[in-house]
Amino acid sequence: MRFDLQRLVRPKIRDLRPYSSARSEFSSSADIFLDANENSFGSPAGLDLNRYPDPLQAELKKEIAELKKISADNIFVGNGSDEAIDLLIRIFCEPGRDNLIVCPPTYGMYTVSAAVNDIAVVSVPLTSDFQLRPDAVLASATPKTKIVFLCSPNNPTGNLMRLDSIIDIAEGIEGVAIVDEAYIDFADTPSLIDEIGRLPNLVVLQTLSKAWGLAGARLGIAFASSEVIGLLTKVKPPYNVGSLAQRAALAALTCKDEVDSWRAAIVSERSRLADRLAAITGVDFVHPSDANFLLVKFERADALYQSLIAKGIVVRDRSKLELCSGCLRITVGTPGENARLLSAIAEFYSNSEAEAVAPRSGKNL
Ligand SMILES: *Cc1c(COP(=O)(O)O)cnc(C)c1O
Repeated sequence: MRFDLQRLVRPKIRDLRPYSSARSEFSSSADIFLDANENSFGSPAGLDLNRYPDPLQAELKKEIAELKKISADNIFVGNGSDEAIDLLIRIFCEPGRDNLIVCPPTYGMYTVSAAVNDIAVVSVPLTSDFQLRPDAVLASATPKTKIVFLCSPNNPTGNLMRLDSIIDIAEGIEGVAIVDEAYIDFADTPSLIDEIGRLPNLVVLQTLSKAWGLAGARLGIAFASSEVIGLLTKVKPPYNVGSLAQRAALAALTCKDEVDSWRAAIVSERSRLADRLAAITGVDFVHPSDANFLLVKFERADALYQSLIAKGIVVRDRSKLELCSGCLRITVGTPGENARLLSAIAEFYSNSEAEAVAPRSGKNL
């Protein structure tokens, strides 16, 4: 499928003249800044925040580019991946007219962001073993389909999508193929960002919220052709990533070794936790995971969920999603947290077994 970006982008966006901020109009050096109505006297609490942040995050992009071995021109940095998701929908989908494809069960923000922007959602569910159905995805696409969201490793199922399925969809679809790799750091497979040069309609999303431990800073990254990055840069709010977030990200990127050792620890805890869970009576199935969480099918999942909350442990109830009945999604915690979780679950099932046999003992008659 030949990809025609100019035809795909909303005309309003293609013709948009972006807001030009004080800091982006100036590029040489100066030592007196009277251009942006900031407080020249300083910022309280010594945080050094009286100046607006770099709207193009040049220093941060340079570090990300080095780490990911890609040009800074192929990088967009946003206020979480959620900002990139919303901006991509607004760039390509005409409200009230266009649609996008999602493959549930998957991350809920694609559908929420679509609804906020008045974009119809076409659902092409995963197979029962949580894999994509490329033929069904391509058959569901119409000229109004501007985006397909793929998530690999997928949330909440935890597994990687087959690479050939992702490629078939990206190559076969006329719109943009967005592959959300929020959990790629926990998977034993390379990122798709290497395919960006070959597939002009591919956008890869990553985030510093998971493996990099910066969920509170709000930093998402989109990798794409420089043309798509140009569109994202054009429509984004000028100062979409604050100075604190940029500084936090720069600091984190210097701690690659520490992050790598956490990642290894999380991956090994994941398999230990999966084994222990599988051995508990009442656990029906532990889905294989390439992420930092496990999707687990339990007997009486609702009651277990409530009993965990009563013990101060909160997991994610995913049992109402299609293909996920009886399933809770559990983030891999520290060894101590996982031990408490395991004993709370074991206790729940041994108590309910005791209750079930109680009448037969005659005590309750
Ligand atoms: C957690 C998560 C994200 C991250 O979103 P941020 O806005 O970057 O925190 C993105 N996609 C998926 C599938 C996720 O689970």
